Amino acid sequence: SAYLDRIDAFNGELNAFITVDRQAAIAAATAADAQIAAGQGGPLTGVPIAHKDIFCTEGMRTSCGSRMLDNFVPPYDATVISRFRDAGAVILGKTNLDEFAMGSSNENSYYGPTRNPWDIKLVPGGSSGGSAAAVAAMLAPAATGTDTGGSIRQPAAFCGITGLKPTYGRVSRLGMIAYASSLDQGGPMARTAEDCALLLNVMAGHDPLDSTSSEQASEDYTANLNAPLDGLRIGLPTEYFGDGLDAATGERIKTALGELQAQGAELVEISLPNAALTIPAYYIIAPAEASTNLSRFDGVRYGHRCEDPADLHDLYTRTREEGFGDEVKRRILVGTYALSAGYYDAYYRKAQQARRLIRDDFLTAFNDVDVIAGPTTPGPAFPLGAKSNDPVAMYLEDVYTLAANLAGLPGISTPAGLVDGKPVGLQLIGRHFEESRLLNVAHRLQ
Ligand code: GLN
Repeated sequence: SAYLDRIDAFNGELNAFITVDRQAAIAAATAADAQIAAGQGGPLTGVPIAHKDIFCTEGMRTSCGSRMLDNFVPPYDATVISRFRDAGAVILGKTNLDEFAMGSSNENSYYGPTRNPWDIKLVPGGSSGGSAAAVAAMLAPAATGTDTGGSIRQPAAFCGITGLKPTYGRVSRLGMIAYASSLDQGGPMARTAEDCALLLNVMAGHDPLDSTSSEQASEDYTANLNAPLDGLRIGLPTEYFGDGLDAATGERIKTALGELQAQGAELVEISLPNAALTIPAYYIIAPAEASTNLSRFDGVRYGHRCEDPADLHDLYTRTREEGFGDEVKRRILVGTYALSAGYYDAYYRKAQQARRLIRDDFLTAFNDVDVIAGPTTPGPAFPLGAKSNDPVAMYLEDVYTLAANLAGLPGISTPAGLVDGKPVGLQLIGRHFEESRLLNVAHRLQ
């Protein structure tokens, strides 16, 4: 009730939630009370969780921030959602996002932008901006997000919370509406690394219904939170501290790194020589995959359908014209172009080759260091509208986050203090399946 009351009081201004079902939440919480009284229940019994509106929830509208799915009520739960239900968690509501998770500011939502609770003139980041704002404003104790190129870490940084993108394949993608399938990964967003660990314990693990889900056993992610940092080797890529990084943000990051050093960690300068390829490679691969994934929204099977189509072609074109927003259309066009005969080798294949080089840079660096650290974003949150008419300026926001997705590596953003009253994040990237080390380092800093 306390969280629902805060949602009633502040969601009008913040627009963090798209859907809240007060009755269903109270009913689930009441059932949880009974379970606790009976000495039963799971690790999260009664804990209210906000879910990004990209995870299918049985019987509850799942819009993906799009007019296309404004009327879509899924007939099943995403695996992430059913795992939370099995753990006893209560669904508090569904949070706002950039349409189909395409964006870095939440301004691409059909439901209007979410606002940053630190200053409502600022964006909360994206695409999981609703989840980040909800946690930061204490409209929810914790939330889920998804990260294709930074969508958990960047809004976590802009809203002063902790967000973890797990290793690709660590968390099931079943029922998580697909943007770019080889990059998408769900993960926790919470106030602390410890809370993220508790959520990841529930989310992580093999799912036989997702063929890309890893069979490697998951762990108790809370077990190593307090491990000492003595001798930990932290790599600082030259490329992440150069041109383009706001000076005051760079200072905050160095201060945070100094605190880790004071706890016994060793700071080592490293290089990721292909770092300049990440934005061009990502902005070919992600739209290419999006263009194929979004072909299912055709007005026939589910979602929006135009009125009185004259014929099949009219049904497809008008449905998609009406259902998708500008950025989604831009991605579909770019992706379709990059995949078309005659251009495939020049763009898509080239981007895949660059992706391999980027991944190899990280694997080489991890021969020498245990984690890689740098800023999550080039600067703090920017004002609403500042970049919304300039797609390239918006894409540059993702310069430090995209590589972890291209390489399939886990990454976390943890608060690193304020710049002019605005939060900034320290990003830590780890070896495949070393989420527990990232949570450990973030926890020691918090
Ligand atoms: N900003 C990036 C994009 O627009 C990443 C989004 C995401 O991680 N879902 O594609």
